[in-house]
Amino acid sequence: MVYVVHFFTSDETENVEIALESLTLNVSQLSDIKLIRALKLFVGNDEHLPDSTYALPVIPQWKENVLPFMKKWALHIPKLNEIISFISKIEEGKYLGVSFNDSLNMFEKKKFLFEMKEREGGLPAKQQYEDFLRNNEKLFHIYQPYALSYKYRTRFGPNERGLRVCRYCGGKMPGTTFKNVSHTISNSLGNINFITNDECDNCNAHFGAGIEQEFLKYVSVYRSLAAKFEGHPYYTTKTEAFRLGVDEETNQISFSILDEKKLKIVSSENYVKYIVDGGYINYHNVYRALVKYVIGMLSDDQLPFFKKTISWVNGENNITQLPIVKQTIYNEPEPRPFMNMFFRKRPSDQYPYLVADFHVNHLEFIYVIPGCQQDKKEFQENILDDFLKLRNDHNQWYDLHMNCPQPMHMNLKATYYFRPKNEN
Ligand SMILES: [Zn+2]
Repeated sequence: MVYVVHFFTSDETENVEIALESLTLNVSQLSDIKLIRALKLFVGNDEHLPDSTYALPVIPQWKENVLPFMKKWALHIPKLNEIISFISKIEEGKYLGVSFNDSLNMFEKKKFLFEMKEREGGLPAKQQYEDFLRNNEKLFHIYQPYALSYKYRTRFGPNERGLRVCRYCGGKMPGTTFKNVSHTISNSLGNINFITNDECDNCNAHFGAGIEQEFLKYVSVYRSLAAKFEGHPYYTTKTEAFRLGVDEETNQISFSILDEKKLKIVSSENYVKYIVDGGYINYHNVYRALVKYVIGMLSDDQLPFFKKTISWVNGENNITQLPIVKQTIYNEPEPRPFMNMFFRKRPSDQYPYLVADFHVNHLEFIYVIPGCQQDKKEFQENILDDFLKLRNDHNQWYDLHMNCPQPMHMNLKATYYFRPKNEN
C-alpha cells in the first residue's frame, strides 16, 4: 500500500510530497508508523490525528525543533530533505498545508486554499469561493468536473486480481493475466500515480507498443525541450533527419541535422524558417491514445456508455467523424501529466457528454471522447468551440485535425525572426 503525505502552501503550485510504500503494511498500519505519528504530533499536537488535511501557521520555532527532527529522519528517508527545504523557505505569517493520505477533489481543494489565504490576510474564503464559482459559472452549469491530481496515487478498477475484467478487451483470469502494473497514462510521460488495475498484460503491451508510441512521437520534441526545466529527465528526439535534445552540462538546446536533404530553409528579409522532416505519424492513433488514457480512469458506472469508444481505441471499428482536438502550449512544463474530465449533466446536442482536458509537459489538450452512447448524433468537427467558450481562459487554442486514419507526414518548423535593420 501507499501512504502519501503532501505539503503545500496557499499558492496552488507550491507543493511537495512523500510517499511511503509497503508491500506488507496496510494503510492504517502505515499511518501508525513512527515517522507519521511524529509528523502528526507536529501538525496537530496529537500523534493519532485522523488522516485528513490540515493547515498550520509557520512559526520561527520550527527551525529549532521540527526541522532538526526531520533531518534525523532524512538520514533514512532522503526524500525528506526536499520537504525540509520546502518548509524552510515558507515565510513567517504564511500557512503550511499538510495532508495525510487525503485526496481532496478540485472544489474541496479550492475551499481549503481559500481558507489558508484568508488566514494569511487575504479576502474572506467564502468570497473567494464565490468568485471562483462565478468565474466558472457557465461551465459548471453544464458540466460536472472530475479533477484528478497527479500528487495522489489513484488506482482504477478492482484491487483483487480475481475480480478484474480488462476494461479494454473484456479478458479475465485465467485466460488473461494482470501481472504487470498498467500505467493509465504512459509511464514514459512521467506518470507514476495513475494505475489501471483492470488493464490486462496483453492490452498493456499492445497499447504500449502501438498507439501510445504514436502519442510519444507526437510529444517527443516537447519532451526533449522540457529537460531545460528542473525535474524533467533528459530525452533526445532522433529521427532520420535530425537530433534534438538538451545538453546535460550546459543545459542548452542542442540541435543537429543528420540528413540535409530532409531540411528546407525558407528565408526572407525578416526571418529564416527551418522546416525539417519529422517522419510519418498516424494522428488517428494519437487521438486513440489520448482517449485510451481517459478510458483507463472511468468508473464502473461510466464504462458501459463507452463500448463503441473502447472498440475504436482497440482498432476494431472506425469512427469516421472525429472532432477537432484543441491544443495550447505553455512556457513552463508540468512536472507530471494529469487529467481533468467534464461530464455533461443533462442531455444536449450542443455539448458532448465527456470532454477531457489533458496536461502533459508544455501541452494541454482538450478533446471529445467520441463514440459515447450518451451522445445521440455524430459531432460537428468544431463541436469544441462552444465548450471553450464556457471556460474562462485566455489561452490561444490551436486546432488539431486528427481525422485521417492513414499516416501523415509531420513537418517541424522553427522560425527565427530578425530585428528589422531600420528599426527606430
Ligand atoms: Zn485486455
